[in-house]
Amino acid sequence: MTAATILHVDLDAFFAAVEQRDRPELRGKPVIVGGDPGARGVVSAASYEARRFGVHSAMPLRTAAALCPEGIFLPVNGSKYRAASRAVMEILGRYTPRVEQVSIDEAFLDVAGSEALFGPPPTIAALIKAAVRLEVGLTASVGVASTKLVAKIASDLRKPDGLVVVAAGDEAAFLAPLPIARLWGVGAQTRAALAEYGVETIGDLAATEPQLLVRRLGKHGATLVERARGVDPSSVTGDAEAKSVSHEHTFDVDTSDIDEIERTLLALAEGVAARLRAGGVRAATVVVKVRDSAFRTVTRQRTLAEPTDMAEPIWHVALELARPEIRGRRIRLVGVGAHGLGEPAQLGLFAPDDDRRRRAVEATDAVRRRFGERAVTRARLLGSDFSAGGRDPMQPPDPRRVGRQRPVPEADEDPSNS
Ligand SMILES: [Mg+2]
Repeated sequence: MTAATILHVDLDAFFAAVEQRDRPELRGKPVIVGGDPGARGVVSAASYEARRFGVHSAMPLRTAAALCPEGIFLPVNGSKYRAASRAVMEILGRYTPRVEQVSIDEAFLDVAGSEALFGPPPTIAALIKAAVRLEVGLTASVGVASTKLVAKIASDLRKPDGLVVVAAGDEAAFLAPLPIARLWGVGAQTRAALAEYGVETIGDLAATEPQLLVRRLGKHGATLVERARGVDPSSVTGDAEAKSVSHEHTFDVDTSDIDEIERTLLALAEGVAARLRAGGVRAATVVVKVRDSAFRTVTRQRTLAEPTDMAEPIWHVALELARPEIRGRRIRLVGVGAHGLGEPAQLGLFAPDDDRRRRAVEATDAVRRRFGERAVTRARLLGSDFSAGGRDPMQPPDPRRVGRQRPVPEADEDPSNS
């Protein structure tokens, strides 16, 4: 059994906490970051006081306003949060070079080799929490364990301001009483499938015969059982690997055509996703860049609820981020990027229900490699929105719908949501 040297550090209610730090009059109040309560957007982060009203990130702002009429609604101040994030990551880098940032407010560290200088891992975790509080004015929750999977579950368990240490050898006992939803890659469908076998806790899953789940869920059934037993072979990657992938497009003529811009974002998202899959990695964060005819450039980013290498979730987030920036402007350039890259095994599991779609996507990638990018083009890129369903593709698009379809909120600017 390896030693418990992996730390997962996760800032608490990050965006809302930064606002409360900078404006003492907001402390103890329900702060909701995301925009005006009447706006169409979603909640990016909610303070713990707001969460008591049932407000959570990715919820429509209007719903949040209905649940929490006294909520204090604030716009997203990206540059302020990025500065706080950089300050925290700088602190983490003092304790080990092996820091793997997975989102704006979250990182894994492997402190093996740092013990002679700073003490055992739980001590390092306490030092980090103290430094983040003192120097950045924020609280972080930290999980310490022998694997990334267990460290991440541990950091989430006692939020806010938590410190949970799982000794080597105790992983399975620590996980056993927790509901299976705490495991990465267990979505609603998997949960329903597992319920057929009476599996509700991670301990139930660990005790299940792997072959039984392989028959029901495919090969990932066996991986799930491994995870439930606390087995996670992935390591902290540090800085050595590629950190981002991005594609940009400059329009021939500056445009304010929303549909054209949205189709371009889809093409860019597809290009980014194809490169992620080619590299065998998933991205945690989507970045959008918009430059208008006056050369004013805006970049906005958001961390996904779950890392992905698929075009659709990347596109949906890109649309959400780009829409407020393109409205009423003539646009010269748009770009879509992905960062926070990690191997699928490190960042999550394939949902078994994804399997068929994934195989189709991989086949598409193979065709692309063989015949070039233009060989495979989605209906939407040809101007026919088959995927929206119902509309005759031979008819021109309904202008009332163009640019107004709202994507399902798949993203969560505050990835902890806790
Ligand atoms: Mg967080």
